[in-house]
Amino acid sequence: MLRKNRLFTPGPTPILPAAQTAMASAAMHHRTAEFRALFSRVLADMKEFIGTSNDVLVLSSSGTGVMEGSVSNLTSPGDKVLVLTAGKFGERWRDLAKAFGCVVEVVTAPYGGTFSLDEVRQKLTPDIRAVYAQATESSTGARHDVKSIAKLVRATGHDTLLVVDAITGLGTTHFDVDGWGIDVIIGGSQKALMIPPGLAYCAVSERAWKRMETSKSPRYYFDFRKERKAAAKGESSYTPATSLFAGLAAALEFIRQMGDGNLGAGREALINNAELAAEMTRAGAQALGLKLFAASSPAAALTAIQSPVGVDSGAIIKEFRESFAAVVANGQGEMKGKLFRIAHLGYYDYLDTIGILAALEQVLATVTGKPVEYGAGVRAAQEVYARAAEKRQPVGA
Ligand SMILES: *Cc1c(COP(=O)(O)O)cnc(C)c1O
Repeated sequence: MLRKNRLFTPGPTPILPAAQTAMASAAMHHRTAEFRALFSRVLADMKEFIGTSNDVLVLSSSGTGVMEGSVSNLTSPGDKVLVLTAGKFGERWRDLAKAFGCVVEVVTAPYGGTFSLDEVRQKLTPDIRAVYAQATESSTGARHDVKSIAKLVRATGHDTLLVVDAITGLGTTHFDVDGWGIDVIIGGSQKALMIPPGLAYCAVSERAWKRMETSKSPRYYFDFRKERKAAAKGESSYTPATSLFAGLAAALEFIRQMGDGNLGAGREALINNAELAAEMTRAGAQALGLKLFAASSPAAALTAIQSPVGVDSGAIIKEFRESFAAVVANGQGEMKGKLFRIAHLGYYDYLDTIGILAALEQVLATVTGKPVEYGAGVRAAQEVYARAAEKRQPVGA
């Protein structure tokens, strides 16, 4: 059969058609009134999308750039920081903090798991200058309890900053950024925002801006204070990825329409969409006899599914690609070959979700050489969908 190329990876994700059109027609110079208006509108909309009154920066880099900036702007060499790590992205925080000369304390959890809050509490000594964590660990498909972690950090009463990599968390998870006291929350364009890679963004609290007055790590491109000053005038310090800004404006408009004209409501609708696709996928995979990798605390951003015993997940990825042109992600690092990851963040709908589960049934039959009960995974997902639809629209009401 004909095959359409489709991304099911937790970044990059499928691109919103309206964003694609906007990007194709954008030929703007960045020091013009036209671009300043677009830039300022995007920054204002991003505050609503994130759900914060803190200042938002949008930088032209991949997500890791703003992760690095969140270390270089907020720490000085020798500062003690606490990294919560249970996967490859948690390990990136650890490595970044070490690269800037921080003394790194860690709380770890096995891959697929999440942290003991007691252990986090014990490690929150007064000398911890900042806590770095993920909202959703994209390498394992686990969701971490940011609300409880924030509560612990704020309860110390110390001047400890909380920095959350929500690169796959934003648009898939409910956050009360200001209410919980998250000092820096980070996102990336190629995830729930439905545009290509190349923009990274963050919302920064007053407490974090104040820390930057005294922090001494070297920084240049990712100097947040310089960017904040430029942003107040509708500009970026250097040449921004202008066409991505045009795409982002279109994506934010789409999310606003999802919320009937309200961007905050649109964000909630986008989160609920990911939640439902994730729940359908989990039910479908389990009905096919597969095990979830992060079963105790699964994220809505993506689902990590363990490869059947004796099957390298690379064979599953390859079969998805060759038979259906569906790009599914392998495990990262030590998890390579052991699991595969299906994304739900951003521009995924019912048909995408049912389609990938139906394809999974075919893929399993091919790679395992064992009979598969066709329809079992799809049916379980349909049942999840039907129950959710009933809740939205009670029958007979
Ligand atoms: C995608 C992702 C990143 C950033 O990766 P880049 O390749 O630099 O955009 C960081 N953390 C998490 C949790 C991610 O999913």
